[in-house]
Amino acid sequence: MATNFQGKVAFVTGGSRGIGAAVVQRLADGGATVAFTYKGSKAAAEDLVARIQASGGRALALLADASDAAALTQAVNDAAQQFGKIDILVNNAGVFTLGSVADLALEDFDRMLDVNVRAVFVASKAALAHMGEGGRIINIGSTNAQRIPFAGGATYAMSKAALVGLVKGMARDVGPRGITVNNVQPGPTNTDMNPAEGDFAASMHDQMALKYHARPEDIAAMVAYVAGEEASFVTGASLTIDGGYSA
Ligand code: NDP
Repeated sequence: MATNFQGKVAFVTGGSRGIGAAVVQRLADGGATVAFTYKGSKAAAEDLVARIQASGGRALALLADASDAAALTQAVNDAAQQFGKIDILVNNAGVFTLGSVADLALEDFDRMLDVNVRAVFVASKAALAHMGEGGRIINIGSTNAQRIPFAGGATYAMSKAALVGLVKGMARDVGPRGITVNNVQPGPTNTDMNPAEGDFAASMHDQMALKYHARPEDIAAMVAYVAGEEASFVTGASLTIDGGYSA
């Protein structure tokens, strides 16, 4: 049964492609009005808005680099102004640059921290100004927060592990307001970031109980659960959906 998001307003970072686009579509299918950000994929973002509008939904694409705190805050405020509130925030935008600590450029380290961690703080802070009772903050973390079984992923793993602590503390900050805060931690998921036919796919499947990539829609389904009414008692949690990668 599709979760009912009628009357809800959602804001999704990085909604133009991959997991973010599937989350936007899933929430819109449930009746939510969805604002989402993109950085480089303008055409894909506009296509997604057009598809949602064609099926009777409401969606808005906003250009905002997640590493630009002012732009991201402005996007959240613009969405709240246009739609009146924000009920559901999904911090999805993320980047991954492979490189050992000895080799990774400091700029790549900073970019992963800016997009994967700092932007989550920035968007959450901005959205909380427009969020009431029953609100939901959901971050897309990663199974790599708990297991990183290959070299070159230290900074990415650190960035996603940071979210584990963040949601525990934030859940306590906003619990009294009736708002929940959680991470959804995917394993290998078929997107541009991690194609199911990519060079590393087979070695990932070797690590898994289920030897295939998730579809972005599989991850969006767990996001929809956490965003929904039935998950009202779930908070401060990091929920892994990884085909047994960390089992
Ligand atoms: P993709 O690279 O396929 O898509 C990334 C999305 O994020 C795009 O919509 C992109 O927008 C957006 N984005 C990236 N950087 C920025 C930025 N600076 N500002 C705004 N938007 C940005 O990634 P996935 O869909 O695979 O990943 C989504 C999330 O899931 C990430 O947080 C990732 O770490 C996490 N994840 C992914 C896994 C996987 O196997 N795919 C596994 C575990 C976690 P645009 O194209 O417009 O720039």
